[in-house]
Amino acid sequence: MIRNAIKRVIPAPLRRFVRDPRRRAEAAEARLFLERHTLASWPRRGERRTGRILCYHSIGQREFGVNDVSPARFRRHIELALAAGYRFVPPSEIARTGGGPKDLAISFDDGLKSVLTEAAPILRAHGIAYAVFAVSSWSDRKHPWYLDRALGWGELELLLRDGAEVGSHSVSHPDFTRIGHQQAVDELCASRETIRQRLGFAPDAFAIPYGQSMNWPAACAQSAREAGYQLIYAQAEDTRPKGTVARTFVTKHDSDRIFRALLAGSYDRWEEWF
Ligand SMILES: [Zn+2]
Repeated sequence: MIRNAIKRVIPAPLRRFVRDPRRRAEAAEARLFLERHTLASWPRRGERRTGRILCYHSIGQREFGVNDVSPARFRRHIELALAAGYRFVPPSEIARTGGGPKDLAISFDDGLKSVLTEAAPILRAHGIAYAVFAVSSWSDRKHPWYLDRALGWGELELLLRDGAEVGSHSVSHPDFTRIGHQQAVDELCASRETIRQRLGFAPDAFAIPYGQSMNWPAACAQSAREAGYQLIYAQAEDTRPKGTVARTFVTKHDSDRIFRALLAGSYDRWEEWF
């Protein structure tokens, strides 16, 4: 009945547009672009007391769309932050202690190839620690699309030796609100166990796939604790679920102006969503 009502209200061309995944991605990107630019002019919040953890994905893998920041822009973000007096610290330091207002950290979700090939050399040159959250089935080479796009275990080991923190980002990157309790437990436990087997330690940090507040039901928080995770990395400061660690997502649109606004807190209520 509701479907028929929707059909009457929304014209067929618009319905086709909404159903086409490519068009939806384009519309989402346009919307995201507008939101980033609009919020950059938003009034800033009061004085900050804690550190900030940035969340990137790929650095120069354009197929990752809005989540891909070019190497030149990534380097520029680091230069801007250093010039503004920020100090880079490991993400776990801010996660555990809160850090100081000028503390900044870098994390990467999805465990993608360009973290090793593009980001790590830039970070090494500046002596900056960082964290990588791997999707275990992608790093296990079980997903054909990610074969050449995600880091394998040998490559993650190189990053570990480089001083990176490695955590889990689940087995298959599901939306935790769309899976049952047992599958959620499996995603949490099996990814941790695979990292233990492949890299020799069981991670205590987990980054929520998609990372939005709506992607993390309360029951999952309990399951994650039982699985052995102590730190759960999420998204925006003001909207993150209770007990999670806030991160500020960085997008490909983040020019100097937007990045400065980001450091000043303009996106602390903003969540990337599709
Ligand atoms: Zn992810």
